[in-house]
Amino acid sequence: MTAMARAGRGTDYELVIAGGGLTGLALAAALAPTGCRIAVIEQVPLASLLEPAHDGRVTAVARGSQHFLARLGLWPAIAADAQPIFEILVGEAKSPVTVRYDHREVGREPLGWIVPNRTLRLALQEAVGARPEIAVLAPARIVAAVSEPAALRLSLEDGRALRCALLAVCEGRFSPTRALLGIGARRFAYGQIAIVGTLEHERPHRGRAVERFFPDGPFAVLPMPGCRSSIVWALEAEKADAVRALDAREFAAEVEERFGDLLGAIRLEGERWYHPLVLVRSERIVAPRAALVGDAARGIHPIAGQGWNLALRDVAALAEIVEERLALGLDPGDAAALARYAAWRSFDGLALVAVTHGIDRLFANDLGPLKLLRNLGLGLVERLPPLKRFFMRHAMGVLGELPRAMREPPPSRHP
Ligand SMILES: Cc1cc2nc3c(=O)[nH]c(=O)nc-3n(C[C@H](O)[C@H](O)[C@H](O)COP(=O)(O)OP(=O)(O)OC[C@H]3O[C@@H](n4cnc5c(N)ncnc54)[C@H](O)[C@@H]3O)c2cc1C
Repeated sequence: MTAMARAGRGTDYELVIAGGGLTGLALAAALAPTGCRIAVIEQVPLASLLEPAHDGRVTAVARGSQHFLARLGLWPAIAADAQPIFEILVGEAKSPVTVRYDHREVGREPLGWIVPNRTLRLALQEAVGARPEIAVLAPARIVAAVSEPAALRLSLEDGRALRCALLAVCEGRFSPTRALLGIGARRFAYGQIAIVGTLEHERPHRGRAVERFFPDGPFAVLPMPGCRSSIVWALEAEKADAVRALDAREFAAEVEERFGDLLGAIRLEGERWYHPLVLVRSERIVAPRAALVGDAARGIHPIAGQGWNLALRDVAALAEIVEERLALGLDPGDAAALARYAAWRSFDGLALVAVTHGIDRLFANDLGPLKLLRNLGLGLVERLPPLKRFFMRHAMGVLGELPRAMREPPPSRHP
């Protein structure tokens, strides 16, 4: 039976998920085993999100997120394309001070994994497609949301109407449904564009990720399986336009100029992608019968590779709350459920907005005293092992009030 045919069977769902991107589908996959009726509303056909031209990014998947994906049974479909990260070097360009995070300082497992977004999307779409209790309505968009005492009534652009106990808004940082719910959002345009591309290189990367801070934006090289790496090069918009005009060979030469010859000769593989960087922070993350999840709650700078990891912590927390309430025969979208979600997830989100914004602003200039301060800070982290381990554990997504499904890998399913 097709997803559309399933959707036609009824119009009432316990959970409606607006947005079928990485966050929305992860939430659908997490709650499918409860047997609750779920509808996913995505504005474009899901298959179009898998077209290679749609998204050339990779995601640094933290350890806590990997535990969650493994518990959802998704890791076997992801593992072959996932490159373990064994070491991370972080430092300011043209400075001898570098912080070196080595996975052996915190255990045997890798610090995280680099996974192509397309692989994540494919695994999630296959998992959702295999679940008859999930109806996928795509292309479709919500145009009105009216709160009733025991449900939220949603009207779709094509005239359909749905009633649900809970609406999870996973439409990304520019979510229109967030505005329909009366939730405002503040924006800060960084004036930077993140250029993304894949490199083939002569020497092996040995699972090492490198991030260098330049005054005009951070530059990251992320290891992929084989002698390949993904770059995320954030640049002031005008400079990014100039880089856009370069052909593949000139582009590779510019990359080498920034990065040095650590990886030997490099070559650009395929396309480049350009992402304007804008911080968006929602004024709150819940409304009656609705929760904002992932980038719809806050979309942060990719400087620390944490946006989707943060989103997955939202997903795992909301799934835990909904699952518990369904098991007890309670309403999954009432005020008590939403208050718990807001209390659980607001601090983590705010903290990462502050940290990522703070790091970008701290390094986005060439002022002498700030340069000194930055190098002192990095030097301190490098010389104080407990402080360094704290930062490593934070980046690995294993600190704080973690949802149960993220705390440990599933039994006997180590990656
Ligand atoms: C250059 C770059 C590198 C990054 N690297 C990392 C990293 O290494 N690690 C990490 O954790 N994070 C990283 N991130 C962040 C990560 O990509 C995002 O956090 C993640 O994609 C958010 O997913 P989402 O599903 O919440 O939102 P989105 O990816 O924006 O998806 C939203 C979905 O909702 C749909 N939609 C929108 N509006 C509507 C509507 N009205 N109706 C129906 N559907 C709608 C869209 O079509 C889309 O499918 C990076 C981000 C960038 C820009």
